[in-house]
Amino acid sequence: MRKPFIAANWKMHKSVAESIKFVNAIKGKLPDPNKVEVGIAPQAFSLYPMKEAAGEPGLKIIAQNAAAEYSGPYTGELSLRGLHDLGAEYAMLGHIERRRLFGENNAAVNRKVKAALQIGVTPIICTDETMVQKEVNGEIHYVFQQLMSVLHGVSLDQIRRVVISYEPSWAVGVGQHANATLAEEGCRMIRRTIADNYTYEIADKIRILYGGSVNPDNIKEIMSKPDIDGVLIGRASLDVDNFLKMVNYAQKEEAQLTQQETKKKNN
Ligand code: PEP
Repeated sequence: MRKPFIAANWKMHKSVAESIKFVNAIKGKLPDPNKVEVGIAPQAFSLYPMKEAAGEPGLKIIAQNAAAEYSGPYTGELSLRGLHDLGAEYAMLGHIERRRLFGENNAAVNRKVKAALQIGVTPIICTDETMVQKEVNGEIHYVFQQLMSVLHGVSLDQIRRVVISYEPSWAVGVGQHANATLAEEGCRMIRRTIADNYTYEIADKIRILYGGSVNPDNIKEIMSKPDIDGVLIGRASLDVDNFLKMVNYAQKEEAQLTQQETKKKNN
């Protein structure tokens, strides 16, 4: 059973004070951490203050990026060792904006992924690739070249700890309606790619998130898709009410189910 993961990407928004205010506003209102995992990726300077403010294991703190080197003369970079020390469990790596605006390529993301796995920070590998069909021995295969380049050298043992986020460029940051069918198709093909290159057992366990214009109105439909295990949310995650609606997307259904069960028992 893959635990749903709802992750917010705050990009370059919110000061430390605003981030702490947000954490205080959502405290006690998150879903049961045994059922749904919730994380926020704030700007780097808010990671520690947010971790301190959260003070409970219910909220995961995620880095938006990290360097492949643990220490050294890399001015302006963020060390995975430092992130690990402060308790950041996850780091997003290879986000589409890092690739588009800061020229990150597959080789750089691959080094970061391996460094994160080695030090014990779970990479959330973002891939914005569109699938390519290829015929191999008369069979059609879907090839995610970008993803496989980024996973180069990642072992069978390490891949189990990776989270993948499928964020097609047509959907990220554009505010258009996310297309749940296309989102599912992409995630399903990524799972198949992992099965082809690793094993079916691993592909079945690995968590694949979808990112791109997720909001309180579409999250339920997106999360109902069998190969989508969670979402990465940008713009819509900045507002407390929207955030709480999205992380609690399953609550109404659960309450209805419990009511139905109680009714059945009483009849
Ligand atoms: C993102 O940038 O990771 C993202 C998913 O953004 P948005 O939800 O705004 O499309």
